[in-house]
Amino acid sequence: MGNYDVVVVGGGPAGIAAAFSAAKLGLKTAIIERHAMLGGNWTNGYVLSILGMYTYDGSEKIAGGIADEVVEWLKGYGGTKGKAGNFIPFRPDEMKIILGELAKKYDIDVYFNSLVSGAVFSGSAASEVKVTGKNGIFSISGKMFVDSSGDADLVYNAKLGFLEGKENEGWHQEATIPFRIGNINENDIIIFSQMHPDLVSVKVNENGRLERFRLMPNLIEKAKRTNELYLPNANAEFMFNTSREGEFVCNATHVKISNFTDGKEMAEVIEDARRQVASSLEFLKKEIHGFEESYLLDSAPSIGMRETRRAVGEYVLRKDDVLSNARFDDAIARCGHPIEIHDPEKGVVYIHLNGGDSSWYHIPYGAIVVKNVDNMFAIGRCLSAEFEAQASARVTGTAMAMGQAAATAAKLAIDAGIPARKVDTKKLQETLRQNGMII
Ligand SMILES: Cc1cc2nc3c(=O)[nH]c(=O)nc-3n(C[C@H](O)[C@H](O)[C@H](O)COP(=O)(O)OP(=O)(O)OC[C@H]3O[C@@H](n4cnc5c(N)ncnc54)[C@H](O)[C@@H]3O)c2cc1C
Repeated sequence: MGNYDVVVVGGGPAGIAAAFSAAKLGLKTAIIERHAMLGGNWTNGYVLSILGMYTYDGSEKIAGGIADEVVEWLKGYGGTKGKAGNFIPFRPDEMKIILGELAKKYDIDVYFNSLVSGAVFSGSAASEVKVTGKNGIFSISGKMFVDSSGDADLVYNAKLGFLEGKENEGWHQEATIPFRIGNINENDIIIFSQMHPDLVSVKVNENGRLERFRLMPNLIEKAKRTNELYLPNANAEFMFNTSREGEFVCNATHVKISNFTDGKEMAEVIEDARRQVASSLEFLKKEIHGFEESYLLDSAPSIGMRETRRAVGEYVLRKDDVLSNARFDDAIARCGHPIEIHDPEKGVVYIHLNGGDSSWYHIPYGAIVVKNVDNMFAIGRCLSAEFEAQASARVTGTAMAMGQAAATAAKLAIDAGIPARKVDTKKLQETLRQNGMII
């Protein structure tokens, strides 16, 4: 159906950054997206916070370029007020709208309701992807391919090697359906937290506004024991403001995943997570001062998947690289997020970088170049990484940085007529810096 310079599989944070960057470099670009919106976990999974653009303590900016442009458009549209601590909170509809507008501005062909389900090769280069749509299966061909499906679907369909879940143990990080609550009385919660610091802790910003708050674990555990709250797995009830007075998003629900490709299992866990949403709201309204007049605004249309399959690249980013703040000659981005594992048995586990929360490590180019293929990148959630390394590098600021790097490398490879693995990484870094990236 189309012949493109760059075919981007999946329009999440990594994919949109790759596509916008590719188009800005003059490449004819397509995004193939199985859902009917751009944004991936941002818009389908209500991950309403961009982490990774700053170090974990919020002190230093470590990602720029196309990510800055997305944030500026979002601000312009009133979808965010910008940085709060170490992240950028935002609202999902505004994100959906501005991503669509940017795709139009850059003349990108976007295919919605289109699932990439196959790949065709000519020697060691991919030549087209098979896409399943409402009319059946059709082909889209390209010079360079970017797997930004989060699930490494392109890599999987191309029958290339992949990694999945925790090595040698097979389990996945838990998945979450975040939900938004409207009409929360922020002042009442601040007062309640002062009266009951054992039940609720709050973070108030410099303007005296409630930025985020959490229910203390003892309150949750007690409510679970007395069946007042249905949250079967280990949780932290954590809420942050979405940039609008009285509107907060809650990340409390957690479900265990054994086979993310099994539609029947996914239906069961998603319905279970929705039950957790309903129970959480009922509990908050009954027990926490400030929630009396609140209501469920909405919950994520789909479910937020933290980790599924990962590609095997020219380099596999290691847990040790992350923790030891590794520096690479072929660096393409920085990441400062700790290893964050939503463990089905232990709950949420953080392992901080050895250099502390103001430090960062490099993402190397080799970790986004798919091994043994001339023209394929895997970026974002499905980069080439060990389980624990992905648990850090997956955040969306870093995912966007990988997207810009893949697009820029695609341009250099096409212009020079060379495979992706042969791209001159010094030239790549120079171009990325010229275009606002921080390496
Ligand atoms: C509950 C939760 C909370 C999180 N909290 C944060 C946070 O606060 N801040 C932060 O920065 N990160 C957070 N993360 C991590 C972050 O959301 C993901 O790692 C990030 O979305 C990765 O972006 P991505 O583009 O690689 O993948 P995704 O966002 O998963 O996007 C992949 C896209 O590909 C599409 N797709 C998949 N398969 C196909 C196919 N075969 N054909 C076509 N399209 C396909 C999907 O529909 C989707 O649009 C959180 C994740 C979860 C689940």
